[in-house]
Amino acid sequence: MQPLIDPFARAITYLRVSVTDRCDFRCVYCMAEHMEFLPKKELLTLEELDRLCTAFVDLGVRKLRITGGEPLVRRNIMWFFERMGRHLQSGDLEELTLTTNGSQLRRFAQQLADVGVKRVNVSLDTLDEKKFAAITRWGRLAQVLDGVDAAQEAGLHVKINAVALKGTNDDEIFTLAEWCASRGMDLTFIEVMPMGDLGNEDRLDQYYALDQLRADLSARYTLTDIPYKTGGPARYMRVEETGQRIGFITPLTHNFCESCNRVRLTCTGQLYMCLGQDDDANLMRPLREHPGDDAPLHAAIREAITRKPKGHDFDYSRQRVEGEVARHMSVTGG
Ligand code: SAM
Ligand code: SF4
Repeated sequence: MQPLIDPFARAITYLRVSVTDRCDFRCVYCMAEHMEFLPKKELLTLEELDRLCTAFVDLGVRKLRITGGEPLVRRNIMWFFERMGRHLQSGDLEELTLTTNGSQLRRFAQQLADVGVKRVNVSLDTLDEKKFAAITRWGRLAQVLDGVDAAQEAGLHVKINAVALKGTNDDEIFTLAEWCASRGMDLTFIEVMPMGDLGNEDRLDQYYALDQLRADLSARYTLTDIPYKTGGPARYMRVEETGQRIGFITPLTHNFCESCNRVRLTCTGQLYMCLGQDDDANLMRPLREHPGDDAPLHAAIREAITRKPKGHDFDYSRQRVEGEVARHMSVTGG
């Protein structure tokens, strides 16, 4: 089958799937405290998600990241992971992974490892209990730390993702780095993006540019650029003093769109060709209208890829937020 190539000659080999819009946390930069979630009947079933993801694998997707909302709160989600595990066994899929807030890892880490998951990204912005409670509103730090322990006990490689937040965790960059180094975990910092109209904070006040964060790290560490890649948007540096890798995801300061290899599927079957743009394609329709025939679904995916834009337009450089998108991060996942 012809691979998926977009209008800018980028091969699309990476699919991120948000399997639920629900979550057991309410992080301030991601969700409003009182969110309205989709009625469950509007969601694709796990069988439908299996068929859709399999169609992408048939079309050349090699890496699948399961995200949300919180993917591990979707009922029976391990059935779906097992189904995706068969593509690892056949060699059609190179990597099956997930992004999680870690709250359910104690329960699921071993099962994830058993189906072939090797790496997991855990989102954790702070090691301070009070700050953690303030950021996540409903989360408990101890539960997430226990989830990280469980993941490591199950043999999963853990990468910590921290959103860099001025006035919140900018005084913890060394604490986070040293904690990760002591546990053999990579760490990636992410710039806060203007996703979702949350009405509760000011993005510019929160924004801690990673150029600045890197300069701040350099006060204590020698940082060397390295070519390490995981297939995602992070650029990596090695900390010479600890030997660990630190990644930087910089949608604002360094646009990485020219090497974008991914598209994002929501739990209702909308395909977003770019995290930072609103154009989407409805894949639920060809899926449901042609239950026994994947050809219309393949055609709809190919058509959508012809619409993949060059990049997002997030911009804070004129001291105001530009290029924001109204949908919440939990719709298309991270
Ligand atoms: N619930 C899971 C988790 O928190 O890892 C998966 C979904 S969450 C939407 C994925 C990632 O998006 C998390 O690392 C989170 O910190 C990040 N995120 C959410 N809102 C964001 C925003 N406005 N800017 C940057 N990153 C954001
Ligand atoms: Fe939930 Fe993840 Fe969003 Fe936090 S960032 S509210 S954990 S989906």
